[in-house]
Amino acid sequence: MEAEKVTGVDDAAGQSAAGAKPRREKIVLDTPDFSDYRGILIVVEQRAGLAKKVSWQLLGEGRKLAQKLDTELMALVIGSDVGELAQEAIYRGADKVYLCDSEELRDYRTRPYSQICLHAIATVKPEIVLIGATYWGRDLAGAIATHLPTGLTADCTQLDVDENRLLMASRPAFSEKMLATILCKQYKPQMATARSGVFLALPRDPSRSGAIIPIPAQMSADEIATEVLAFLEQTERVNLEDAEIIVAGGRGLGGPEPFALLQELADALGGVVGASRPAVDAGWIEHDHQVGQTGSTVRPKLYFAIGISGAVQHVVGMQHSDVIVAINRDPDAPIFKVANFGIVGDLFAIVPAITKAVRERRQLPFQSKSSVVEAVASTSG
Ligand SMILES: Cc1cc2nc3c(=O)[nH]c(=O)nc-3n(C[C@H](O)[C@H](O)[C@H](O)COP(=O)(O)OP(=O)(O)OC[C@H]3O[C@@H](n4cnc5c(N)ncnc54)[C@H](O)[C@@H]3O)c2cc1C
Repeated sequence: MEAEKVTGVDDAAGQSAAGAKPRREKIVLDTPDFSDYRGILIVVEQRAGLAKKVSWQLLGEGRKLAQKLDTELMALVIGSDVGELAQEAIYRGADKVYLCDSEELRDYRTRPYSQICLHAIATVKPEIVLIGATYWGRDLAGAIATHLPTGLTADCTQLDVDENRLLMASRPAFSEKMLATILCKQYKPQMATARSGVFLALPRDPSRSGAIIPIPAQMSADEIATEVLAFLEQTERVNLEDAEIIVAGGRGLGGPEPFALLQELADALGGVVGASRPAVDAGWIEHDHQVGQTGSTVRPKLYFAIGISGAVQHVVGMQHSDVIVAINRDPDAPIFKVANFGIVGDLFAIVPAITKAVRERRQLPFQSKSSVVEAVASTSG
């Protein structure tokens, strides 16, 4: 690596105080040799022995990158009683799993988990490390990166490799108006966190086999300063990323009350309610319901886009849903271009009719919590 060292101080005319030009010397900094760094390592996020979907999605994407680089795909599983999860990581695409299984690792804590990751990176020497951009992953990746002479590209939505084996980690930048591709040219491992719901997990394949290599915990229980006393589940917070059915509403709802209509349909289908950004910005619904570029990226089996026009910033967050049903009174709304089924009409007539049909089909009692639903249902017969 080359850098320029300047000695002497410029005056206003660009001359040094002594009248001579400032002295500029080229100094050459040693670039460490990372040529023995090979392979891709995915750090698996788990809670109570259950992996987060993003970990399997990263193994799916990691498999593609590993194929391009002709290298190994590895996983790191940390926790207590997580042997089965290590096996699961093999079924989900890993060639090899490093497993750190110890009672004191039952709950996530930054220091012991990051120490294990650092030890694994120093031993395994992967050229790429990928972690989910969840609260857990952001905390862990940051803690690891501060101890390594390398960068960290956070919150990626696209991953690829170039002909020089460099990771091309792309993420929205400048208030999400453009996509920036970031390379880490000099140092290894190249590290990135990636959004949930963006990449596709591989189908589970129990015929796959691979090595599971135990690694030691790096800290004993009394060296860990923090203790987890209890977990308080935030039950009101909607989990869009794991939802299989999402009923999302947009500005076309015209206010907060009609979200009760969407909740009725979501309840009948066993799904959750999503929203476009204007509905969130207007305060009609909480931000954790927002789908899109600045909200969640979702991949449900069924996605209803109701009173949503289909702006690119919304579509980018839901376009990979298995089946998309759009309800809009404008036949030219762009949402119909990504929808598998489109219904042109007034949502206030269509949504209650669908809810009613679903309830009848599933033999659910009609228990409307919403006066809007009752009013429409009684007029529509
Ligand atoms: C940097 C940036 C980031 C962004 N991030 C996001 C994001 O994460 N998520 C997001 O959603 N947006 C995001 N946006 C905003 C995005 O550009 C659009 O403005 C937004 O998605 C539009 O929301 P909408 O479809 O609800 O509203 P509109 O575009 O106003 O569409 C409302 C639709 O409702 C229909 N409608 C009205 N009344 C009825 C009715 N009675 N029955 C049926 N249909 C009806 C209309 O025909 C219309 O198509 C972002 C924008 C920027 C600049």
